Amino acid sequence: MIESRPEGSKIPHQKDIPIQAGIEVICGPTFSGKSNELIRRLRYLGHEGRKVQAFTPKIDNRRGGDSVNSEDGATFPATSVASSREILGHVESDTDVVAIDEAQFFDSELPDVCRELAAGGRQVIVAGLDKNFRGEPFGPMARLKLEADGMDSRRAACKICGRSATRTQRVKIINGERIPANYSDPTILDEGTEAYEARCRDHHEVPGKPEGVVLPESVEEALGWLEEVTKSILKKEDRPEDFFRALLTGSQIGDAMKYITHDKKLNPRARPHGTREDEILAYGQIMMQLMTLMGSRGISFKEAVAIGLKNQFELDWKKKDALANATESQIEGRVAHPGNVSGQAYVVSEEHPIEEFVAGVLVAPFVKPDHMSHFRLNTPVAIVTDHGGVNSHPAILARELGIPAIVGTGNATEKIPHGSEVMIETKDKKGIVTLVVE
Ligand SMILES: [Zn+2]
Repeated sequence: MIESRPEGSKIPHQKDIPIQAGIEVICGPTFSGKSNELIRRLRYLGHEGRKVQAFTPKIDNRRGGDSVNSEDGATFPATSVASSREILGHVESDTDVVAIDEAQFFDSELPDVCRELAAGGRQVIVAGLDKNFRGEPFGPMARLKLEADGMDSRRAACKICGRSATRTQRVKIINGERIPANYSDPTILDEGTEAYEARCRDHHEVPGKPEGVVLPESVEEALGWLEEVTKSILKKEDRPEDFFRALLTGSQIGDAMKYITHDKKLNPRARPHGTREDEILAYGQIMMQLMTLMGSRGISFKEAVAIGLKNQFELDWKKKDALANATESQIEGRVAHPGNVSGQAYVVSEEHPIEEFVAGVLVAPFVKPDHMSHFRLNTPVAIVTDHGGVNSHPAILARELGIPAIVGTGNATEKIPHGSEVMIETKDKKGIVTLVVE
């Protein structure tokens, strides 16, 4: 049977099916058609007979706040609100669909408001820029994306190369020339002298962006989300004194330390400090305290984590020291266990896997715990590694076996040819590996 549609554009039988409650996010860079897609969906839902209400932030008065506007001129009526909480007061009891445009300009409570609306049986559709011109998470978008049931990650065309663009470039227009905006420029655009463009990863430029470790996008988003959550916690916090927070953080760390020092494996005579659940709670509390302390001190998690990671990688400073003192025939590292021996080098590589080691001086990037039993049976005369400190696995193994070990050489596996004769010497904390050339 061919279904005939009743007169008009409505599809009344759809209306009898309850709306699917949940949160849908439409995101992407500028000119990716987010608002256009939002309007398309809202019109469709309207035709289905759903009651739709749309909201825009009051901050966005670029094209009048009382409608959702797309780049190609389509519009949909909307109510402009000053805060995300205000939306709840406007939503009528029989509304099926709540749409929010320019969501990036809303406050950090927007994800909670969306969750409340979805819990009330409504379909929530949110559209917004996920990254600001600096390439960092924009307002509450990172958290909204985590909260979303469905996501439409849209792309635009790069203004420079025409390939697919995922970023928003901000440019200053000076004498007709388009110059990339600086990282430290304010987030809100001056429409007279500035503009936004869609750019691909390669053509997105942010002069002055702090150098450091580039965090994986997912980590950056998660940190952006934590930053948002912390900000909203601090808003309700009536004891924001830094000294109080520092004390609290300190006592939480002390509490978690008890769990660590009372670990049966580390300290068999200690009585246990509590349950595993209590320990997890203690870590969670430390993290929350630390984050709110950082928030009250105006320190960015992202920056702190990036700098911390960078430092961690460069801790490799030990490696750098070792490399600085290296010569053509000598490599230095730290002594994990002392002793002077010589022997033939077995240099671990794809060709010479660690599992096939039988005898000689083991030269490896690192040693994993699952290899330890192999070396108890095939004992090396000495161990030399690229990575690892004096408490690393090769160090523990060497002490156990009573053989000399030099760790953290940086590049022993590169500099020592497989099968060559090497001499191992240890002087205090300094370990020296010499290539014996005949
Ligand atoms: Zn491009």
